Amino acid sequence: MKTNKQNADFLHIGKKLTKWYDTNARQLPWRENQLPYNIWISEIVLQQTQVKQGLGHYLRFIERFPTVKELHQASEDEVLLYWKGLGYYSRAINLHKAAHQVVEDFGGEFPNHYNDILKLKGVGKYTAAAIASICFDEKVPAVDGNFYRVLSRIFADDFDISSSKAFQHFSDLALLVMPDEKPGEFNQAIMDIGAEICRPKNPLCMFCPVNEDCIAFQTGRISEFPVKTKKVKVSDLSLKYFFVKYQNQFLIKQRGNDFIWKKLYEFPTSIPENWNEYIINSKTVNHKLTHKNLSIEINTAEIDSRKDFENFAKEFDFSIVNTNQADEKSFPKPLQDFYESVY
Ligand code: SF4
Repeated sequence: MKTNKQNADFLHIGKKLTKWYDTNARQLPWRENQLPYNIWISEIVLQQTQVKQGLGHYLRFIERFPTVKELHQASEDEVLLYWKGLGYYSRAINLHKAAHQVVEDFGGEFPNHYNDILKLKGVGKYTAAAIASICFDEKVPAVDGNFYRVLSRIFADDFDISSSKAFQHFSDLALLVMPDEKPGEFNQAIMDIGAEICRPKNPLCMFCPVNEDCIAFQTGRISEFPVKTKKVKVSDLSLKYFFVKYQNQFLIKQRGNDFIWKKLYEFPTSIPENWNEYIINSKTVNHKLTHKNLSIEINTAEIDSRKDFENFAKEFDFSIVNTNQADEKSFPKPLQDFYESVY
């Protein structure tokens, strides 16, 4: 089968997928008007986030920043605040930078070609293809994990999806199936089928519009695809914080632009030695990031002198906040959970 792919006609598969999409598409708010700005925000929200969890965040974000102009005019801090709860905050920082690019490099008009969309900060090949195909009818497959899974099963294709060449391989395969007409519907059909029917486990093949064409289904080999050999390398990392409080106030500082949790707020990572006597409690929380298992020790130091508290904040450039003020900032989830549990 694999050797004859280039010569065979698989377009009927793509046509079945787009036909299925016409009547089965998920009703999603960004699909109502297919504006590039809305599609872009939805795609960035949905990276690493399921539709169910991302929907409310998307609506809140779009309500506050309805067009690229409002996003461009907002402060980075406010954009981060509206990203709160979604994690992977570098996505929000990049959205904000890209809004500046749209205004400064494209005269405020969202770019309307795949190659130009790809120039935007934080926009990869998948997102650029999704926007270009859905909004501008450009024939580019939006290849992501859904494509890998669905196409590898349809063709019983054992190409290793952890290989650096997988993207190109499945893009070529997608182009064999993708019709010239309605490229956006084709891409969205695979997004929907991948999410709801051709699921990683227990796919609902009985409801799949291409089950007659699917070699893995026809030969009972679905569990063999996609093939993935390499596992993500995860390392351990220990962090130590001091939750320095005076009555209902505590100290925070914004992180820099390097390493994890870029631009988010955190607690002090050290205190004067003679403040160790103020430590009233110590707690360790575990938190998983994609490539790191974090063990975070948080020591609560309750300071009884307002003067010492304020001098320390001033000397080391910390902001003094209460919980209401902290709610206006974005923290890494384990730190946010911690201060919410204290007050
Ligand atoms: S028939 Fe089953 S395995 Fe094949 S594409 Fe459809 S849902 Fe996936």
